[in-house]
Amino acid sequence: MADCDVIIVGAGLAGLVAATELADAGRRVIVLDQEPRQNLGGQAFWSLGGLFLVDSPEQRRLGVRDSHDLAWQDWQGTAGFDRPEDSWPRRWAEAYVAFAAGEKRSWLRAMGHRIFPIVGWAERGGSDAMGHGNSVPRFHLTWGTGPGLLEPFVRRALEAEKRGLIAFRFRHRVDSLTTQGGAVIGIEGAILEASDMPRGESTSRIETGRFALTAEAVIVASGGIGGNHELVRKNWPDRLGPPPSFMVSGVPEHVDGRMLGIAETAGGRIINPDRMWHYVEGLRNWNPIWPNHGIRILPGPSSLWFDAEGRRLPPHLYPGADTLAQLAHIGRTGHDYSWFVLNQSIIRKEFALSGSEQNPDLTGKSWRMTARRAVGRNAPAPVEAFKAHGADFVVRDTLEALVDGMNALTGQGLIRLDALRAQIEAHDREMDNPYAKDAQVVAIHNSRRYLGDRLVRTAKPHKILDPAHGPLIAVRLNILTRKTLGGLETDLDARVMGNDGLIVPSLYAVGEAAGFGGGGMHGYRALEGTFLGGCLFSGRTAGRAITEALG
Ligand SMILES: Cc1cc2nc3c(=O)[nH]c(=O)nc-3n(C[C@H](O)[C@H](O)[C@H](O)COP(=O)(O)OP(=O)(O)OC[C@H]3O[C@@H](n4cnc5c(N)ncnc54)[C@H](O)[C@@H]3O)c2cc1C
Repeated sequence: MADCDVIIVGAGLAGLVAATELADAGRRVIVLDQEPRQNLGGQAFWSLGGLFLVDSPEQRRLGVRDSHDLAWQDWQGTAGFDRPEDSWPRRWAEAYVAFAAGEKRSWLRAMGHRIFPIVGWAERGGSDAMGHGNSVPRFHLTWGTGPGLLEPFVRRALEAEKRGLIAFRFRHRVDSLTTQGGAVIGIEGAILEASDMPRGESTSRIETGRFALTAEAVIVASGGIGGNHELVRKNWPDRLGPPPSFMVSGVPEHVDGRMLGIAETAGGRIINPDRMWHYVEGLRNWNPIWPNHGIRILPGPSSLWFDAEGRRLPPHLYPGADTLAQLAHIGRTGHDYSWFVLNQSIIRKEFALSGSEQNPDLTGKSWRMTARRAVGRNAPAPVEAFKAHGADFVVRDTLEALVDGMNALTGQGLIRLDALRAQIEAHDREMDNPYAKDAQVVAIHNSRRYLGDRLVRTAKPHKILDPAHGPLIAVRLNILTRKTLGGLETDLDARVMGNDGLIVPSLYAVGEAAGFGGGGMHGYRALEGTFLGGCLFSGRTAGRAITEALG
C-alpha cells in the first residue's frame, strides 16, 4: 500500500494550491521541501503579489475598459507562439486568459484575498495593436503583497495538516522519481540537517539520512531555474545576445532547477528551456537576504535610459515597455548593464521596488503608511534607502558631477558629458508642449491620461535638468534573473508528457516547473502578474484532475 494518495515536491504557491485542493477532496497528501518550515510558500512570499486580471471592478472604477478578447489579443501578440511544441502551452494560455477574465478574482475573494484599488500598467509594449504588451492596465496588487496571496493557502494547508490530510516533510530533498513500468510510483531522496536559517537565506546541503515514499500520483512543484546562473547561461538563447557575465539573482538559492532534470530522467519532456523572463532593471541589494540578491525596479515611464556608453535606448525601449526587447538590445551593446538618468521628482513618484519586503506599507496592509507615498518630496523609505546605500546609485546636484560619479562607479569612463547633456537637453526641449515628437515624451503624456498613473505612477512632465526637480540621479541597472518560462510539458490536466508524445503515468507538474502550465503558457514573453496566477491555475487544475482520476 502506498504511503499516501499524492506526493507533492515543493511547498511553494503551486504546491500549496494543489495540496489544499486535494485535501479539500479528502485526499492524503505528503508535501516535501528541501527548505525548512520557515520557508513555506517559496518564492511567492517574496513576491509583490501582482496579479493579471481582466475586466475587474478595480479596472472599471478607474475607467479602464478591458475584455477577454483584448486580453487574448495581447497575450498572443506577447507570446508569439511559433513552435510545434507550443500546442499544449497555447491551450493552457487560452484556458488561463479565460480564468483571469472569469473566476480568478471571485475564487480568491471568497478565500479572503483583497486587491489594492489602483491597477498598475506593466509591459506597455509600444509596437502595434497585435504586438507585445498590455493595451490597458491589468497588474492588480494583492493587499498584503506576496504573503497576502499565500495567506489563504497556508491557512487551509495548516488546517488540513491538523486534520491529518496533509503531512509536511521539510528538509527532504528529492533526488529521484521511482518508476515501475514507465509509471511514476514514488520518490527517493536525502534528509538534510535541520536548519534555523531565516526565510530566504541559504541553507546547508549536509545529509543526515535517506528516505523513500510511494503514492498514487506525484506532482512536481519545484519552481524554475533563476537561482542557478550556470543553468540560466546554458539555456540562454542567441536572440538575447551573449549570456551576461554578471547577473544579480532575483530569486533565492533554492530556485535551483535541479528537480527538472530529475523529472526528465524519469521520462518527462522539457520544452522551451530557452524561454526565460529576466529583467534589465536589477539593483544590487545593499541589505541582501540570499546570495547575490538583486531587487528589480518597477519603473514608471519618465526615466531616460542610456546604454553603458551613454547612448539613449531607441524607441520603444522605454521603462516598463518591453522587458525582453530591452534585454536583447542591452545584450548586444557589449556590456552587461545600462543606466537610468532621472531626478528626485521622478524617483519619488515612479520608482517601485519589486518584493514584499521592499513594500512594508502594502505588505503590512497599512493604509496610513501607503497614503504617505502621495505626500512630500521623498520616495518611499525603501527606495530612499537604496538611494542612500545602494552600490548602483549616483546622486549629484549637477550633470558634470553626475557623469563623474557614473564613470567612477564603473571605472570604465565610458560616459561623455557633452553627449549625455545634448541628449537630455533635447528631451527637455520637448517638454514645453503637451504634445511632442519624442516618442517617450508622447508615451508619458499618454500614461497621464490613465487616472491610476496620474495619481501614483507618472511624474508631471518636466525638464530633467530643471534644478527645482533635483538632485539628479543615475542608476546603474544590472541584469536580474527571475522566471523560467519553459518547463515540463503538460496536458490540460497537468499530466506530464513524455518524449514519445504520451503521458508519463501518474506524474504531474505545476507552477514554474511546468512553465506555469503546458511547458510554457507565456510563449516568449509575459504580460506580468501571470506567474503567480499560473501557479494558482495549474495547482488548482492538478488538484482537481487527480481527485477525478483517483475516483
Ligand atoms: C521578488 C519576487 C517578486 C515576484 N513578483 C511577482 C508578481 O508580482 N507577480 C507574479 O505573477 N509573479 C511574481 N514573482 C514570481 C512568482 O513568485 C514565482 O514564479 C512563483 O511563486 C513560483 O512558485 P512555484 O510554487 O512554482 O515555485 P517556488 O516558489 O520556487 O517553490 C518551489 C519549492 O520547491 C522546492 N524544491 C525544489 N526542488 C526540490 C527538490 N528536489 N526536493 C524538494 N524540494 C524542492 C523549493 O525549495 C521551493 O520551496 C515574483 C518572484 C520573486 C522572487
